[in-house]
Amino acid sequence: MANELRFDFLDCGKGDGTLITFPNEKRMLVDLGSRENKEVSAPDILDHLNDLNNLEVLVLTHGDEDHYNKINSFLGPKTKGFINEAWIGGREKDYPDSVIDCIKVVSKDNIKYFGDNCSSGTKEIFNDNEAKLYLLSANCGGKSNKSKNTKSVVLLFEYKGNKLILDGDTTQETEKHIVKHYELNPSFLKSNFLRIGHHGSLHSPSKEWIRAVQPQCIFLSADIRQAYKSPTCSVLEGLNESNCIGEADEHSYVCYDDQTKKWQIRKSTRGIFTTIARLESEQEQKPSESVGNEEITEISGGVKGHGVLYTLVFNQDGAKIEKKCSYGGD
Ligand SMILES: [Zn+2]
Repeated sequence: MANELRFDFLDCGKGDGTLITFPNEKRMLVDLGSRENKEVSAPDILDHLNDLNNLEVLVLTHGDEDHYNKINSFLGPKTKGFINEAWIGGREKDYPDSVIDCIKVVSKDNIKYFGDNCSSGTKEIFNDNEAKLYLLSANCGGKSNKSKNTKSVVLLFEYKGNKLILDGDTTQETEKHIVKHYELNPSFLKSNFLRIGHHGSLHSPSKEWIRAVQPQCIFLSADIRQAYKSPTCSVLEGLNESNCIGEADEHSYVCYDDQTKKWQIRKSTRGIFTTIARLESEQEQKPSESVGNEEITEISGGVKGHGVLYTLVFNQDGAKIEKKCSYGGD
């Protein structure tokens, strides 16, 4: 037994994939998708999953391509029973038949769908007395809501006094639903770690949600494509108002300034982590400037990204973040 709860945030470009290893060594994979593009070299996220023999649970948070489109290449070569159980957010028709068929074969048809506005207590599926998993939301808004993002499966993990929320691509409607559900026990939502939904785009997250969760450290997937530049610096600065983001070891994260239309690399000790840690410019870079305790370098012209895989570990000594270069050098 490792006596730790471990989260590997896979580097998926714009997309998501998180591998969770519980103290009893059972594993859960939440999402596996990526929108590859010309500007960023394609991360081979499947490499990180090579050694897996089986998964206790596969979770697809919602039916957006960037959360499931690597499922077939990952599961295709696997045998029946490789997954014990699959939890699918949204409706079956939100996904291509090929994805559902593949999961059916590998899980021996053990697929679970959620009811409307689902929010339940602890799931004891891991038979582990100390590591807890809570379902905060699934299929929020029910049949009348057409937004796949709003229906995202939202999970809270807890171990040895540390908590992490994984929130798919939630919208403010989902966030409101969760905050209201726990209004009599608001401290329950307080989590020192948060994987921010919707890749840090301008639509996420709401101030109400950040006030409720009070994360000290946040993780975001980053994307430098023309259409989806995220996370935006304004979203990250919005978090300053809540004054909750704490200190971390020095590292770099990236964000897109929607005012100047330029990317920034920020060398920082704030608890903000993006899956792209470094950008390279095709033009000369502007000299760095310092704002607060951050050194900011503005990037001009075309950019190339250098990905990183972060691992978060909860154990009896607390929580630690490990960094591994994922692609493109570092
Ligand atoms: Zn997404």
